[in-house]
Amino acid sequence: MPGKLYIVATPIGNLEDITIRAIRILKEVSFIACEDTRRTKILCNAYGIETPLISYYSYNEHTKKDVLINYLEQGKDIALVSDAGTPGISDPGYVLINAAIEKGFDMEAIPGPTALINALSISGKPTNKFVYEGFLSNKSSQRRKRLEQLKDEQRTIVFYESCHRIVKMLTDIFEIRGDIEIVCAREMTKKFEEIHRTKVSNIIEVYKNKKPKGEFVVII
Ligand code: SAM
Repeated sequence: MPGKLYIVATPIGNLEDITIRAIRILKEVSFIACEDTRRTKILCNAYGIETPLISYYSYNEHTKKDVLINYLEQGKDIALVSDAGTPGISDPGYVLINAAIEKGFDMEAIPGPTALINALSISGKPTNKFVYEGFLSNKSSQRRKRLEQLKDEQRTIVFYESCHRIVKMLTDIFEIRGDIEIVCAREMTKKFEEIHRTKVSNIIEVYKNKKPKGEFVVII
């Protein structure tokens, strides 16, 4: 019998945000493929999960995929997790998942947190239709070009951003879209969780006066 591939969502900050089923699957599989073994070890230690970890991150995604497919062929079950949230959502997963589909392996997703859904659910913006844009480019010209292209988008748009680029990104939004009302969610589920629902200029002002730290979801 070939093995099964489980795509397992893990917490985006608060270790308590994991399902009972996710914990059981992580205990039962032969291997857990994860981005950063040190990070996943923290989760495993919290729940007494002793399953061996295999590192699987964006730079070794193609080569490690073959190793993992080999284990599945040998009948070993594998769980794929990422550092936070749902694998494949701005995280590694795509390559392995497609290889598993191509080879006809059984696969199951174990649902759980995703930063974009967490932020959308409390944003107050329309959620009946939305688009997920993920990270904009780290190159200013490409970032601005994409924001220009999105000018006519009627649906709610969700972006991911890091603390290093948040002020630049918000400034681009201000210059291209004007002083629109946006939502900026920082460090959700963590100790310093913060959400701003206000004009983009106000949020730029906040983070010009206080160095932005942590992880951000921006909704426009
Ligand atoms: N796979 C993850 C998911 O399901 O949301 C996303 C991984 S992506 C590499 C990391 C980005 O997600 C961060 O830069 C930030 O934009 C967003 N993010 C993750 N956790 C977050 C949190 N607790 N609060 C706000 N944004 C978060």
